[in-house]
Amino acid sequence: MNEQKRFRDRGQTLSDFDDEILVVCPQCAACARVFKKDPADPNWFTPRRLVCRNCGYTRNWVAKEIRRGWWTRPVVDDFFGIPVWLQASSGGKVLWAYNVRHLRHIEGYVRATLRESRKHPIFGGWVNQSMVERLPRWISAAHNRPLVLKLIRRMLESLPPELRDTQQAK
Ligand SMILES: [Zn+2]
Repeated sequence: MNEQKRFRDRGQTLSDFDDEILVVCPQCAACARVFKKDPADPNWFTPRRLVCRNCGYTRNWVAKEIRRGWWTRPVVDDFFGIPVWLQASSGGKVLWAYNVRHLRHIEGYVRATLRESRKHPIFGGWVNQSMVERLPRWISAAHNRPLVLKLIRRMLESLPPELRDTQQAK
């Protein structure tokens, strides 16, 4: 590879990607969406809604407790506790993403041969870790790049076409 692929980390955290979570519909197993009822509300506890366009299933989330679902297998969403659609595993390790934008962000990071970290604009030191900085080592390791990109491709191919085509990687 002659040209370095550059990835600039703008410090997005997981909550920058949680506005839409693709999940497995509990009723028909199609790809359904969990989204904020008020997209402009940055609050993690903002009411969420689950909608399946395939079978019409809907459910609301207004609880006050959130359970992180990253460590369960399969990985589940933080609100309804149902499996997220975008997850693929290899050798017991799971790569997952809330939505296509999140997955494309991970893809950009994995593809990059030059990763630019960021310093705090005022303090100059390291700020809170971003989403990509928190990724497990096996995902960011260069020697795993072909495997991780294969898992990402498999996840994208599992999507209904209307979701797959959004936000193509640049
Ligand atoms: Zn459904």
